[in-house]
Amino acid sequence: MTSTQTRHTLSELERGVPFADRHIGPDTDGLARMLTSIGVSSLDDLAARALPDSIRDTEPVATTLPDAATEAEMLAELRTLADRNTVTVPMIGLGYHGTRTPSVIRRNVLENPAWYTAYTPYQPEISQGRLEALLAFQTTVSDLTGLPVAGASLLDEATAAAEAMTLLRRAGKSASPRFVVDADTLPQTLDVLRTRAEPLGIELEVADVSGGLPDGEMYGVLLSYPGASGRIADPSSLISEAHDRGALVVVAADLLALTLLSPPGELGADAAVGSTQRFGVPLGFGGPHAGYLSVGEKQARQLPGRLVGMSRDADGNPALRLALQTREQHIRREKATSNICTAQVLLAVMAACYAAYHGPDGLAAIARRTHRMSAVLAAGLRAGGVELENDAFFDTIVARTPGRAAEVVRNAHEAGIALRPMDSDTVGVSCSELTTVEHLHRVWAAFDVEVSDVDALDESTSDALPDGLLRTSEYLTHPTFHDFRSETSMMRWLRRLADADLALDRTMIPLGSCTMKLNAASEMEPVTWPQFAELHPLAPEADSAGTREMITQLERWLTELTGYHAVSVQPNAGSQGELAGLLAIAAYHRSRGDHERDVCLIPSSAHGTNAASAVMAGLRVVVVGTDGRGDVDLDDLHAKIAEHGDRLAALMITYPSTHGVYEAQVRDVCTAVHDAGGQVYVDGANLNALVGVARPGAFGGDVSHLNLHKTFCIPHGGGGPGVGPVAVAEHLAPFLPGRGEVGAVSAARYGSPGVLPISWAYLRMMGPDGLRRATLTAVAAANYVARRLREYYPVLYAGEDGSVAHECILDLRKITKDSGVTVDDVAKRLIDYGIHAPTMSFPVAGTLMVEPTESEDVAEIDRFVDAMIGIRAEIDRVAAGEWPVEDNPLRGAPHTVACLVDKWDRPYTREVAAYPTGATPGVHDRKVWPPVRRIDGAHGDRNLVCSCPPPEAFA
Ligand SMILES: *Cc1c(COP(=O)(O)O)cnc(C)c1O
Repeated sequence: MTSTQTRHTLSELERGVPFADRHIGPDTDGLARMLTSIGVSSLDDLAARALPDSIRDTEPVATTLPDAATEAEMLAELRTLADRNTVTVPMIGLGYHGTRTPSVIRRNVLENPAWYTAYTPYQPEISQGRLEALLAFQTTVSDLTGLPVAGASLLDEATAAAEAMTLLRRAGKSASPRFVVDADTLPQTLDVLRTRAEPLGIELEVADVSGGLPDGEMYGVLLSYPGASGRIADPSSLISEAHDRGALVVVAADLLALTLLSPPGELGADAAVGSTQRFGVPLGFGGPHAGYLSVGEKQARQLPGRLVGMSRDADGNPALRLALQTREQHIRREKATSNICTAQVLLAVMAACYAAYHGPDGLAAIARRTHRMSAVLAAGLRAGGVELENDAFFDTIVARTPGRAAEVVRNAHEAGIALRPMDSDTVGVSCSELTTVEHLHRVWAAFDVEVSDVDALDESTSDALPDGLLRTSEYLTHPTFHDFRSETSMMRWLRRLADADLALDRTMIPLGSCTMKLNAASEMEPVTWPQFAELHPLAPEADSAGTREMITQLERWLTELTGYHAVSVQPNAGSQGELAGLLAIAAYHRSRGDHERDVCLIPSSAHGTNAASAVMAGLRVVVVGTDGRGDVDLDDLHAKIAEHGDRLAALMITYPSTHGVYEAQVRDVCTAVHDAGGQVYVDGANLNALVGVARPGAFGGDVSHLNLHKTFCIPHGGGGPGVGPVAVAEHLAPFLPGRGEVGAVSAARYGSPGVLPISWAYLRMMGPDGLRRATLTAVAAANYVARRLREYYPVLYAGEDGSVAHECILDLRKITKDSGVTVDDVAKRLIDYGIHAPTMSFPVAGTLMVEPTESEDVAEIDRFVDAMIGIRAEIDRVAAGEWPVEDNPLRGAPHTVACLVDKWDRPYTREVAAYPTGATPGVHDRKVWPPVRRIDGAHGDRNLVCSCPPPEAFA
């Protein structure tokens, strides 16, 4: 055996298998097979042919990204950075609170690929598990806020407030552009509201509402309950005053407090927003956490983002799926209610599990602990002569210590506790699920107060919750919040839900435009290290030195890889990166006195978020057509540029195009826009076809966003978290979010830093060579799929040399016309083969877009290709009249065990239904049984049910 092996040096042996060989699926033989099939001799040959010379980097680009580290080396380096952070007991509050993630949830959800590698549940038949968890999230929010409809998560509390601000404007009758915000609102929420209000012409007024609403007309009001200062005021009279004056009201509320306090819905609010972070989601230096938004029935159709609802399957059984999809940006584009796409599903699932694990009484007990700790803390301080600002509070007190605030905060920090310095005279202290009596002693000591008998103090201290606002209504009465209270039952519930779903741990997910690649375990591990996970976003600068150094390095590497000048990781999804980039462009034009430039050209093939983001940035969308090749139609582009002249602000173009093609003329497109005084926004969500081979900043882009949850290995989490860094050329750098010229786009300064170690680790372990190899392998895989499938399904678009980029579009329109078999039928039939469908009907209706990525080995790609070939043979039998269009294995798909053991009177056999012909040998071992049959979405939209239905519904 050993005689034929080549000799390796000691240092090669010491390093072992490079990470790139683990990340990249095809081995040497597999790659050779793909390259032969597509007719190229090497990856370099492929690069030279597929990539237009006009964009290709012919020399390796100098970067500060070091050569690849091994997994062990990377973890050691990251550990050194993590050790530079100082984690203290978080008592800063301000929307971020200490919480304990139950280990059963951390291990079985956050650290479990069955949950974190899942895609957004657009194929509901293989997503019933995460849909059920999200329904529990919606029920948690809806019950606690007292409003009937809650969405399946928003990006954070501040952006949820911004979404509510625009929702109320759409929903209300008032023509006033004025939105009044309670001055006692979280500062980060105020920042994001300002950023979002300005381009939409909303007049934001921050007002002290303790004495009533300001005079004059307004369309909406945001009240904080409790306020940022911890103060609890009864909002009901302000709400009725607002209603009398024709305005709608949203209440920003703390979910944990709502277990004890009357919910906003019962107090008359039209909507509620907030964060679910303190429901077991680590602080992570500011994110990712799930924001929430709930509304009344009347506003359900105005709700931004994803909403899970009940419907029924082909056999009439209850089944879940995303409801009211036609509201969303991918359908409504510039008329969409919001640009949100990726949200915070994984974190919403964690919050829902936390609510289910603790149940209503458990949550109330945590709330009571939190409240009693703060009440006793306050009593001790008062007894020690410290004056407090509010008498009614839930978890936060504000203490006056004239001239001594800094000293008190310093004392506490030395004792391992982080307090909130407000000004030189005041200090804020927040209690949480983590607060102990020992912590109270340390805080008292920081104020030079001593409490000798805490039990006596406890006994003599009454609650600080206002009597008139105590909650009397029940919540979380559904069995979901009672049946999984033991660890065994919770573990099994999580396993059962995960087993209902198809994630990357069971099959390739060849979703075009989504880049479902490996999320390596070594990349994921650091996410739950306490030094990263337990850091409060407002901790003193010195305490976050390690994380900030990691972010600086990551931003620099991303800057170099994209050819730009600077990067901000603040946007917490691609959509938010788009908004940040477009706001930068708009601010740049204004800074030059170009106040008229408000037209944003967008190709008709663009992702729906592009148009929705442009509207949110105050721009007017003008659509540019595409030509027969799927490229931007240059004639139409020139015509539109001429038509809009000095009003041209920007062109937004995706590269490679959403058609999966490297457009050769992209430089001409950029030049034409620049010559007309416009800026070029290159949507970089498809960067998996560019990293290491071409840089948008070098071929004409002024700004791009990247999706770290696609190209840079942050898992999709079933629909979030995401990170959408915005990268800009030098002239736009002053306009990055939160740097003075343009406000914040996310609540936390660095958006979702809790998951940034994943992308850092990926880059560090791949190194420049590994990244380039990954890109070209992804391109090779897409071309291999196109080559193998093109005689069965026409490949819609290709570049000048006939090759595609990192994905390819299979055109089923003629097949559908000839046979009646639709893309839906094919997608659902793939489930019977145990494979997740490609992207359906985007960017072209009636097509499937396939993106294999570099992580899938050739055997798995062949399994997909063979399934597609098998399906084509089935389609031919339908077309030949052998099976009726309405009753064949495709239309009947997916098939459940229940439907197979039932009475069978179909024109095809059970064998064909369950074990499709044409499947690769071994398909039986990987058989997937979907829990439901094809789901009727329209039925659910007509009969909207968005929270856990009573168990009788399943009878
Ligand atoms: C995924 C994607 C987006 C949106 O990113 P989100 O993180 O989902 O907001 C934008 N443009 C393109 C081309 C995409 O593929």
